[in-house]
Amino acid sequence: MPRPVDFTYCADQATFDHAISTLSLSRTLILDCEGLDIGMQEGALSLICLGTVTADAIFVFDVLVLRDNGINVNPLLRLLLTEDITKVTWDGRMDFLEIQETYAVELNGVLDLQLAEVMSRMWVRGEGERQRTNRLASRYFGFHVVKNDPDLYDGIHIVLGMANCLKEHHLGDGIEKDPEVIAMHRANGTALWLERPLSERLLRYAATDIYLISLLHEDFKRKSWINAANRSELQWYSQRYVTMFQDGGRLDPENVFMKGPLIMLSEITADTNAARYECSGCGRRKPIYCFETRWANMWPQRLPRCRVCTVVALKRQLPPNEDWMYVFDA
Ligand SMILES: [Zn+2]
Repeated sequence: MPRPVDFTYCADQATFDHAISTLSLSRTLILDCEGLDIGMQEGALSLICLGTVTADAIFVFDVLVLRDNGINVNPLLRLLLTEDITKVTWDGRMDFLEIQETYAVELNGVLDLQLAEVMSRMWVRGEGERQRTNRLASRYFGFHVVKNDPDLYDGIHIVLGMANCLKEHHLGDGIEKDPEVIAMHRANGTALWLERPLSERLLRYAATDIYLISLLHEDFKRKSWINAANRSELQWYSQRYVTMFQDGGRLDPENVFMKGPLIMLSEITADTNAARYECSGCGRRKPIYCFETRWANMWPQRLPRCRVCTVVALKRQLPPNEDWMYVFDA
């Protein structure tokens, strides 16, 4: 039997106050949210889980019951929006959106491990172009496709899911996510997070994510993927990563281009003042480098979809890009 993770369920004033006073002593917290399709249209928040950096204390805030009990959650929101308190996440993009849409506050001070893993490939592990294209080819597109049109795939990176990353690093053995809850997700989606009372099993599943993120955080530090020299830069980029969808608000679940395992790093590292152009696929505004471009009659043109959306359309055999458009029309 896997060793269960300890946690405190917070749904009344006493447990809430205890959680806040414990968490307030830490400069670094682990964060993960659960709910119905969080960050998506029709999505709804159910739990905010926060732990101390080594997950010695894990608190599961039941935001629905706290609301019903009339408890003021501002002290919790203050922890989330305070920049000086680092929030370690694994792909915090949906957490950011859900918190913004639910409470109209911005999650600040993020250190995102999914992004840190991608950045460590070049910054720390010294990976080059060959490893980047190998990852794209072996995990997603196939070698033939990537070799055929290398410019199209330039600067595109594949991100890892948390379960895959744990497996690659042999972490969390014996403390895997509850297979029964994974099966429930597969059968009925995420609506189970809105039922009350929540079973001990579901609460523990949510708390276990905090523990697993803390293991990854420790491991990344041990490997120097996160170190004193790159930490503040990683946090700067993490904040840009998790705010990626901020302008458009909740994501449209019908739009296959909105969120996938591909990112273009230059979108995150580009000058904040760089001109941006709207993609007809994902609908987001991106620097010109993210598009295929050409010259026509001395004027620059681009395709309407960004290159990430273009390769996703190819992979899914969706209709190709529409016609070239002049860049000044954007
Ligand atoms: Zn796009």
